[in-house]
Amino acid sequence: MNKKSGGNLVGVHALVWAGDTSRESIEIAAKRSSEAGFDLLELSLHDLANLDVPHARDVMKRHGLQVACSRGLAFDADVSSEDRVVVERGAKLLHDSLVATAGLGARILTGALYSALGKYGRPVTERGRQNAVAVLRSLAEEAQRLGVALGLEVCNRYETNVVNTARQAIALADDIGSDNVFIHLDAYHMNIEEDDFARPIRETGARLGYVHVGENHRGLLGSGHIDFASLFHALADVRFKGPITFESFSSTVVAQGLSNDLAIWRDLWTDGGGIASHARAYIAAQLEAAVA
Ligand code: MN
Repeated sequence: MNKKSGGNLVGVHALVWAGDTSRESIEIAAKRSSEAGFDLLELSLHDLANLDVPHARDVMKRHGLQVACSRGLAFDADVSSEDRVVVERGAKLLHDSLVATAGLGARILTGALYSALGKYGRPVTERGRQNAVAVLRSLAEEAQRLGVALGLEVCNRYETNVVNTARQAIALADDIGSDNVFIHLDAYHMNIEEDDFARPIRETGARLGYVHVGENHRGLLGSGHIDFASLFHALADVRFKGPITFESFSSTVVAQGLSNDLAIWRDLWTDGGGIASHARAYIAAQLEAAVA
């Protein structure tokens, strides 16, 4: 079933299946991801305290799944803060997340690693941004030793004030200056902030390491107005070979804290299996059409 889509691993976000990372939820997510034909399962580390890392690693291996990890920070643990204590809590959260990522056998830790995931009431300050750069530079060194690369996911203005566009992410990565830091683009966020779906991908080029595909309302792929043809054409143009992961959230599968941070108030679907199988086929068709 695996590796059907040229060089790209095709992934699915675990929140399509379950709202937490208990042993039972991990088993369900892995089984159903594998059955739906995915190569990779993205685990959000928002529930790190309830994640049994060696167990999850075994389950993924048993199902032949690669793993990628993601997370955002919190307002009381935020590396883009000016408050030293808040920055240190953010750095600790990132360190713990990196250790879990390596323990899971994953090679990617991505997301809003540079700030809280939430709506800020003012722009990031220069000092706050410098704090984020310093913490991520040191985290990247630690990640290098563990064989992990760090992704800067570009998120919209309502979820961060540090990186809203691909250009800002490239500038942040330049300031961090580490080889194992890449850019992560997400169609849902691009729809809000970028000029179109092609230019940011072409400008990011070889520094693009991970892609989230999601609709403008985070529901069924193709049911909204995201221009997926342009997005997949641009991915083909830059010869993107990294993972492409389907991300969709519904209040049916509730991880209360994260669900609130992401402003998921509606039931966009009730059957994770249906939407995931559809997404797997949709992504395969887009990849095939883009190189035709
Ligand atoms: Mn995303």
